[in-house]
Amino acid sequence: MEQDAGIAMRQSGRITPDQMQSHIEHQFEVPPGTTVIEIDFDYAPVTPVGSSFSNEVSLSLYDPFTGRGARHNNPDHHIVLKDMGASKGYVPGPLHPGTWTVSIDVHRIMPPSSVDYRLSIRTDSAPQTAPALPFVPAACNPRGPGWYRGDLHGHSLHSDAPWDVLDFVDYARQQNLDFVTLTDHNTPSGIAECQSLADDDLLVMGGTELTTFWGHCLTIGEHDFVDWRVSKDRTIGSIAAEEIDKGKLFIIAHPTHVGFPYCSGCDWKYPEVMPGVAKVVEVWNGDWSGIAHNDAALSLYYGWLSLGHRLVATAGSDIHAPFEKDQRPGYNVVQAEALSQDAICAAIQAGRLYLSSGPKLGVTHPDSENTTLMGQELAIKPTRLLVEWHDCPEDAIVLLKRPTDDPGSAVRSDVIAHGARGRALVPFKPKPDYDWAAIEVRDGSGALHCLANPVFFQGNVDRTR
Ligand SMILES: [Zn+2]
Ligand SMILES: [Zn+2]
Repeated sequence: MEQDAGIAMRQSGRITPDQMQSHIEHQFEVPPGTTVIEIDFDYAPVTPVGSSFSNEVSLSLYDPFTGRGARHNNPDHHIVLKDMGASKGYVPGPLHPGTWTVSIDVHRIMPPSSVDYRLSIRTDSAPQTAPALPFVPAACNPRGPGWYRGDLHGHSLHSDAPWDVLDFVDYARQQNLDFVTLTDHNTPSGIAECQSLADDDLLVMGGTELTTFWGHCLTIGEHDFVDWRVSKDRTIGSIAAEEIDKGKLFIIAHPTHVGFPYCSGCDWKYPEVMPGVAKVVEVWNGDWSGIAHNDAALSLYYGWLSLGHRLVATAGSDIHAPFEKDQRPGYNVVQAEALSQDAICAAIQAGRLYLSSGPKLGVTHPDSENTTLMGQELAIKPTRLLVEWHDCPEDAIVLLKRPTDDPGSAVRSDVIAHGARGRALVPFKPKPDYDWAAIEVRDGSGALHCLANPVFFQGNVDRTR
């Protein structure tokens, strides 16, 4: 390592396949009065000869107090950080003097090749030209109680998507969403700009997709950097508990997604959070029939419910670019007290939502048709569920899902009705200690179009806590 005036570090090294899923950290000093930090990083080969997959290495940056973001899986590794501005993926702010850390995050190395890297870091104290205007969060007049349709998962140029936040928000408007959430990989850096694009027609929420080496999860409502480096002292369970304690939504994302080498770290591999402290699971990621294996995620979720866990199911488009015409992402249709981030998160935490690619679904009691039963806990006694659906495919099948005593499967499926629209009164006799009932709408090919979050029946035995 060399130290010159203005040069904080020059470093080169080799990453071997056995260093996959590790962080290679280098520290550097930022002197008082620094106005710019500039980092250049490159590595080769990006794609080894004969491999279908590239090596995937990202840089995270930490000041003496907190993380300043990452630009996950993006080929641009030139980073400029200033008080009032930063390269995409990184959070602008005071350049505190002291020891900073740059972490080379080794997400994927395709064996048997190794990767050679070069890293150089320069600091400067020259006065900077007029800073760009900071982003001003735009007001979204919180509309009152109602059903609101929106997305909880999407990406921009701040990580690995090819579009900027402006196009991301425009697309949400084209889909007539009421709310949208930017959740870039391992960085909250795009949230401020994204929120500046909100207006009365669209609530813009923020979060991060913690893109760890052994699974992805969403922290919705969290606008600060979250250290996503899992270790024996900082487990995913402790990260989840921290976020939940702060009132944020912690969602296990696409738990059954195809994993290495296609998507290294995308499948959920944390035994202590199966589901552990987690209370929300993304069972519909992207296109229903895509590589997230959503049917398997839904089966995993039902299995956890049947073990007595009280869990909420969500959808996330995980959008990186406009969907193709034949793709069918799911959105969350949430009954919230208001169209605000806090109210939407609270309603999701309570399970008052259904997931849908377009059709509408209602589950109520015939004596109280304005009150949804989704997420509610009812006394253990026979009841009736009023199920209503419309705008479904002509060959739609409406199904009642509930736990089964059959050791071979966690859930049983009873056909309620067929057709694009309708209304059905479903008698339901809960089991004596614990039960739940969810409603699905599928088409003739078996693909899901709608899923109502379960109504729970809870007796004296509470198996969820
Ligand atoms: Zn992911
Ligand atoms: Zn994602």
